[in-house]
Amino acid sequence: DKAEAPIDSLASLVDRDALTGMFNRRALEARYPDLRAEGYTALAVIDLDHFKKVNDRYGHAMGDRVLQETAAALSSDPDTISFRMGGEEFAIVLPGTDLAAATELAERLRQAIADMRVEYQGKQLLLTCSFGVTASEQGAASLEQLLSSADIATYRAKHLGRDRVAVEHIIPVTKTE
Ligand code: GH3
Ligand code: MG
Ligand code: MG
Repeated sequence: DKAEAPIDSLASLVDRDALTGMFNRRALEARYPDLRAEGYTALAVIDLDHFKKVNDRYGHAMGDRVLQETAAALSSDPDTISFRMGGEEFAIVLPGTDLAAATELAERLRQAIADMRVEYQGKQLLLTCSFGVTASEQGAASLEQLLSSADIATYRAKHLGRDRVAVEHIIPVTKTE
């Protein structure tokens, strides 16, 4: 229920991704100040692992199907709001400033995707995603700060071998005088 009010206000925008039905990056950019005020101050960025191979081996239609199934899996938690940022990259905003809680949710979603079996024209395949999680400890970070911090974590998750969750702290700016 907590997520319903911001979802309703997002639904008034035309900013949906046609393939997955998710909100798109533009919707996130337009609504993030409101979402932050509602307490959505943690962010996960999700990038499908080796997705190009899915297209190469099984065709673009299978790739599209994988994106749809991944989107559905990532949208399964009613307390979060998910977005397709572009290509095979997604973002989820989560309530709260607790990095450990956000990481726990990301870990559940990572496992849910690893457990998926996408079937299409008699073929079945396994997928994994890399997650980068960050949180604004004082609830004040901009979307730009959250995204750049989550991107650093995602890059680390890829570098460490994919199919994992990596976290990055946002260091609050403190005035020294
Ligand atoms: P990595 O594990 O490093 O993320 O490798 P990757 O293959 O997932 O990453 P890369 O950026 O090389 O490839 C992303 C691919 O996603 C390439 C592009 O063709 C494909 N893609 C982007 N948007 C769509 C789409 O809407 N549908 C389909 N089928 N493919 C898409
Ligand atoms: Mg990518
Ligand atoms: Mg990828």
